[in-house]
Amino acid sequence: MADGRVVPSVVGPFSVEEAVEQGTEMPVDPAAVLAALNDGVYLVDRDRRITYWNLAASEISGFPACEVVGSRCADGILNHVDASGRQLCGEHCPLQLTMQDGRSRTVQVFLHHKSGRLRPVQVTSVALVDDDGRIVGAAETFRDDSAHRADRERAAHLERLSLQDPLTGLANRRYLETCLATRFGRLAADGSRFGVLMLDLDHFKRVNDSHGHETGDEALRTLARTLELGVRPGDSVVRFGGEEFVVVTPVDDADRLVAVAERLRELVRGTSVRAGEVKLTVTVSIGVTMARPGDDATTLLERADSGLLSAKRAGRDRVVLV
Ligand code: GH3
Ligand code: MG
Ligand code: MG
Repeated sequence: MADGRVVPSVVGPFSVEEAVEQGTEMPVDPAAVLAALNDGVYLVDRDRRITYWNLAASEISGFPACEVVGSRCADGILNHVDASGRQLCGEHCPLQLTMQDGRSRTVQVFLHHKSGRLRPVQVTSVALVDDDGRIVGAAETFRDDSAHRADRERAAHLERLSLQDPLTGLANRRYLETCLATRFGRLAADGSRFGVLMLDLDHFKRVNDSHGHETGDEALRTLARTLELGVRPGDSVVRFGGEEFVVVTPVDDADRLVAVAERLRELVRGTSVRAGEVKLTVTVSIGVTMARPGDDATTLLERADSGLLSAKRAGRDRVVLV
């Protein structure tokens, strides 16, 4: 600058220096533009000491410029945390990372408002370089992210719903398709073996007929929990249909698969379903099969289903391996 002031040029599409070099006339003082933006903007030097703080930054954070300019952002003024509560100040600080590699980054985080409450913000950091291309600091812009965050959470919620059975909270058939596709992919890629269990509750119609549909629903919820608790991490429990479930489990051989099924059969048998005054127990029949080369989801599930049919025919409350 002609008057000797250091005006940091911003790396990226907003470079004031470049604009000036290209002959673009700034109709007003850039500092006035920064001050008038709706986005919070602040600048830090190499020590992450805050050198500039605009009005929107004060409004969003609750801290007026006089309380923050001169202090270090590492002093934990805004205290950014991510969605899991991890503190970003330090090695995860976007400003710090941008000053290290010169690259701009945008993250969705929470900042601590002066009142102490968390506020969702979208933060963008850009490096500031001097005429020699040395990084002399960084700028951070941040904007309130409540509306976008609500949209994202709604989308994630819908996504969950589309893969989740509403009655039991278990995964649904759509999830099973993706799960089996992944398992078949691994089987082909590195030979990771897996098997499936097809379960159908025994004489469940009688539960509804004797105690009503509500009690039947409660029994399904309770038994879904039993199945979830009875499997290992990495197994998937899916509500396949009315009172039918599928478990996908990575096991090396049929003996282990049968052991998983026997354990679940015993657990279901031992589960006491309570609904109001009613207390009842249910049994389950299970067809089991290992995935084989050449199988697809249809052939695999059909084979498990044929095992289930045999288990029913043989008297129910049993496991049949096919
Ligand atoms: P089986 O031992 O041969 O399996 O006898 P079953 O009575 O269980 O016969 P089947 O599997 O053919 O019938 C399932 C019954 O489960 C029919 C229906 O009354 C009940 N059912 C299916 N879905 C639901 C549900 O969402 N809620 C309730 N309460 N009952 C359901
Ligand atoms: Mg049944
Ligand atoms: Mg059935």
